[in-house]
Amino acid sequence: MIEFVNVSKTYDNGTKALNNVNLKIDEGEFVFVVGASGAGKSTFLKLIMREESTTEGKVIVNGYDLTKIKKKDIPYMRRTMGIVFQDFRLIPKMTVYDNVAFPMRIIGCGEKKIRKRVNFVLHLVNLQHKADCYPNELSGGERQRVGLARALVNNPPMIIADEPTGNIDPEMSYELTELLNQINQNGTTVVMVTHEHELVRQFNKRVVVIKDGTIQSDTDSSACEYTEEKNYEEIAAAKAEPEPEPEPEIIDDFDTSEVFADISSRVDAINTSITECAETISESAVERADVDDDFPTLSDDAQALKEKFEAILGATDGTEE
Ligand code: ADP
Repeated sequence: MIEFVNVSKTYDNGTKALNNVNLKIDEGEFVFVVGASGAGKSTFLKLIMREESTTEGKVIVNGYDLTKIKKKDIPYMRRTMGIVFQDFRLIPKMTVYDNVAFPMRIIGCGEKKIRKRVNFVLHLVNLQHKADCYPNELSGGERQRVGLARALVNNPPMIIADEPTGNIDPEMSYELTELLNQINQNGTTVVMVTHEHELVRQFNKRVVVIKDGTIQSDTDSSACEYTEEKNYEEIAAAKAEPEPEPEPEIIDDFDTSEVFADISSRVDAINTSITECAETISESAVERADVDDDFPTLSDDAQALKEKFEAILGATDGTEE
């Protein structure tokens, strides 16, 4: 699918960006390409996309020999890959739907087919509800998912992701990589350039490390240097486990005496109104008993009620009846 044979690239100013690179990426693989800034990662991708040509050696991509390819065939060769960019490259004046539909319109697909496919890929990246939004109404992570949907819309056999997590937060980076992982499991080859070694470690994939224009190591993910203080391990663990119950909030500098004073004054106020209430009931019952002998039971009830209140008051006062 991708083959580099003795590839070197020297720019016009004499910078040797790649030096005798030999590499083969087979169909269906997921490969991380990592390396420090200036190592040659972008040059590697530009050669795959035929944005640059080799100085020496041969690059073969999806059956096209890029050292011999005719200019008119380059757009066809590029249709065999979906590209996700670090800076998203969405068209600001188009909705999410139209941004994703764009590559299909370029190749002349009918609107019915476009609608079906765009809705499908938007669903895949979980953005179907944002179809009518404009890019400036989305978060960085959402924009990058639109970028991924656009890369997928023509159903290419291969996705090239150029630092796709460079402008999004760690949690979103993890989710985006997980999405690429799922896409890969459905058969699409994924080549993802990143400098986030800690993210790479969370996914057990082939890792190609480029250093000073040469391949320093291939496959061994432990060869990555730890450079980013991002908590991908925690994010991965959190995804694997159910959400924990939130801890009750503890405020360290909280003055409890104020709270107790407040509660105590409220209890006093309640006690006072209960007493007043009980007395009123009792008095009125006694008055009624005086004027009408048919109400003796009411007086007893009122008395019982008063005793109950007094018992409650005694309990809240801390005194026993
Ligand atoms: P990376 O993507 O790993 O940061 P690049 O492939 O962009 O690395 O760059 C590799 C080397 O090639 C660097 O020294 C860089 O300065 C140089 N380089 C990249 N593009 C050009 C260019 N168009 N002209 C001259 N030198 C370049």
